[in-house]
Amino acid sequence: MAFDSDNFHDRIWCNARLATMAGGGTYDDGVIACRNGRTSHIGTADDLAKLDAAEILDCEGRWITPGLIDCHTHLIHAGDRAHEFERRLAGSTYEELARAGGGITSTVLATRAASERQLVDSALPRLDSLIAEGVTTIEIKSGYGLSLSDECKMLRAARALADHRAISIQTTFLGAHAVPPEYFGSADAYIGAVCGTMIPSIAGCQLADAVDAFCENVGFTADQVRRVFDVARAYDLPVKLHAEQLSNSGGATLAAEYGALSADHLEHLDQAGVAAMAQAGTVAVLLPGAFYFMRETHVPPIAALRAAGVPMAVATDCNPGTSPLTSILLAMNMAATLFRLTVDECLAGVTREAARALGILNDTGTLELDKYCDLAIWEVERPAELVYRMGANPLHARIWRGQ
Ligand SMILES: [Zn+2]
Repeated sequence: MAFDSDNFHDRIWCNARLATMAGGGTYDDGVIACRNGRTSHIGTADDLAKLDAAEILDCEGRWITPGLIDCHTHLIHAGDRAHEFERRLAGSTYEELARAGGGITSTVLATRAASERQLVDSALPRLDSLIAEGVTTIEIKSGYGLSLSDECKMLRAARALADHRAISIQTTFLGAHAVPPEYFGSADAYIGAVCGTMIPSIAGCQLADAVDAFCENVGFTADQVRRVFDVARAYDLPVKLHAEQLSNSGGATLAAEYGALSADHLEHLDQAGVAAMAQAGTVAVLLPGAFYFMRETHVPPIAALRAAGVPMAVATDCNPGTSPLTSILLAMNMAATLFRLTVDECLAGVTREAARALGILNDTGTLELDKYCDLAIWEVERPAELVYRMGANPLHARIWRGQ
């Protein structure tokens, strides 16, 4: 007797409203099924008669979106900078804090002193905040180790989070984040170590899915970033870039020239950069949490990005210095209120476009056949509520790879 395996699924969710974030648009009376962790059917209630599953779940009219994706974080780090924050509010200047050992160097020293296990343990509560809001995929950068062994430790800790929680992790090597203390005054020599030792080793043990750098007058020059990207390309690693956050350094154009997956921040992006990104298909990753926390006033050129058809993603930039944000929903609200993104843009920014910014759109980011069945089920009347509310969490259930 033949067994109709095509119509037998592990699990079916019915009576749902589906925001597919793909060509399928939305379904008012939707049905979605999974088999072996991947989406095996999407349709309407009419299909139910011909479907069978081990488990059928009634969503009672709730909305289902793709599982959310936080595509830019520095989630792995030791210590925090609350003390620095407090002192700045009490009137200390940036120079005074730097002299007192504050700033990124304090995070580098704390991260170097921590064990891999301590890095995992301290990141888990931050990860849990994001998971509680329906995040099913997260990108995590290195960049506070700044030596081969400490950068590897950070990347291993990031990957190890997947042993503790049901979540997909993408790791990014950000060796060119800052000049470490032992190289102060010799940024070129440090870039030499990043290119000559770190990228080859990290590529060799496959610890990173991409390579990132910080292109800024307080970071690395375009020429230094070019050296990093040339080596990344030689090892077949895709690139992304922290660009035009505090000034226009031509980083976005450089990133586009290398076919970067994304250029991130972009407050000071100019028209040439917009055109180059549109041409290259480079995603603009907007980080309103850092903009808010640093009390920036120069807004990224959203209208120009929109007009040029540059895909826009939204992320938390979770980091101890400039964006201690562990709410993707609040990042969406900030993208709307501070940058004037529409509801659709905010939602696409944490699903489809975030997946595109990580180079994993073939596997996740939309509700489509054969992609991972990563879902967020929401207790809302309309998706706009996900962007509109501040501090609310209407997540009803979160499904990672069908479970
Ligand atoms: Zn960042």
